Amino acid sequence: MSDCLFCKIVAGEIPSEFIYEDDDVVAFHDVNPQAPHHFLCIPKQHIATTNDLQNEQAHIIGKLFMAAKTVAGDLGVAEDGYRLVMNCNQHGGQTVFHIHLHVLAGRVMQWPPG
Ligand code: AMP
Ligand code: ZN
Repeated sequence: MSDCLFCKIVAGEIPSEFIYEDDDVVAFHDVNPQAPHHFLCIPKQHIATTNDLQNEQAHIIGKLFMAAKTVAGDLGVAEDGYRLVMNCNQHGGQTVFHIHLHVLAGRVMQWPPG
């Protein structure tokens, strides 16, 4: 989608250092980190929200989690643990309408989230 920030990152039109990439997924550090480690795993394909997911795209969600696991291992935070978050629409706090899995690590997370 031409006016989507994360599609532009996938296309290389907005500079970003990928810390993971495969055929379907890229990961990069969040520009406004909420934890010592905070990165985003996103599909290369534009999907605006989890409400827009189609059955044939279900494997992409699995790949986002596999990317999160891989990068967490690379960063050395897998054993201590991390928080995975995907926000949907206004009540979920979504601000970029191209689905993304937040991975937060490096500190103890609070529950419930705000
Ligand atoms: P959400 O509020 O769940 O939609 O999350 C959007 C996230 O994208 C926020 O954590 C932002 O800090 C992050 N973000 C926005 N623009 C960029 C960018 N250019 N590079 C990396 N992260 C970004
Ligand atoms: Zn997009």
